[in-house]
Amino acid sequence: PVTDKYCVIGNPIAHSKSPQIHAAYAQQTGQELTYERCLAPLDGFEATVRRLVAEGYRGANVTVPFKLDAARLATRLAPRAQAAGAVNTLIFEHGEIVGDNTDGPGLVADIVRNAGVSLADKRILLLGAGGAARGALLPLLTENPRQIVIANRTLATAERLAGDFAAHADRLAVSGFADVEGGFDVVINATSASLAADVPPVPPSVFGPGVLALDMMYGKEPTVFMAFAARHGATVRDGLGMLVEQAAEAFLLWRGVRPETNAVLAAMRQAG
Ligand code: NDP
Repeated sequence: PVTDKYCVIGNPIAHSKSPQIHAAYAQQTGQELTYERCLAPLDGFEATVRRLVAEGYRGANVTVPFKLDAARLATRLAPRAQAAGAVNTLIFEHGEIVGDNTDGPGLVADIVRNAGVSLADKRILLLGAGGAARGALLPLLTENPRQIVIANRTLATAERLAGDFAAHADRLAVSGFADVEGGFDVVINATSASLAADVPPVPPSVFGPGVLALDMMYGKEPTVFMAFAARHGATVRDGLGMLVEQAAEAFLLWRGVRPETNAVLAAMRQAG
């Protein structure tokens, strides 16, 4: 039998933890597959995908900076990838390149299953209005929160994002960082500020006991955002759980079975 082939396409890609995660899922579910890193030239995403298809790959994950290119290249988009305007999972089947996005569902799964926080009727502060925030919006709305406030450095970008979800206007609000007022249950940092060791300048009062503050970033150390939120009383979480969960959702799309994530997340944390 032929072993099914998958990979993660990005640039850079050497740091990606996805091969480890998918290897663990394959072992756990007894599936025969390979999953490797695939470095695509910055101007060569499409050529890379065409080569993978020609070589018989069954699918691929897509990461920075190719998620928008992947949405353009797909011959068919899942509704949540359409809403996100970005694709992190490609499925090569029946001559089609199907694009889906499991980042947002991964975020929701991490909050609801791993952190044990229901989002129903909750107030959520979403910091950022880039690709990650856009991808999170529809999956978050599906959990029936009372309100989602989108706050961004560039207000016009937040307004455009909210405008694209006009059907949910009654549950969406837009704000600048400094004008955000407290009273949130969950605060999600979907900016890339942590990369620059920066914290979006929201009032410390948005954090406090009983607030879950999640940074989509992850690494060895807690991010500056996590440190700031923890100092002001919030329970904090990094983006590693989201990463492990988005991989489980992609595995489900490809293989029809959703792996158990707890042990894999624990092992990844231990490995650092
Ligand atoms: P984008 O470049 O699309 O968006 C960046 C966002 O961050 C914009 O809203 C931008 O604001 C804001 N921003 C950038 N720098 C600063 C700063 N110094 N202060 C305040 N705001 C800032 O990036 P993505 O949306 O693709 O990614 C965002 C983060 O999410 C990344 O750190 C990425 O690693 C992480 N991520 C994690 C995943 C996971 O599985 N854990 C999955 C996907 C993403 P403005 O509009 O004003 O420029």
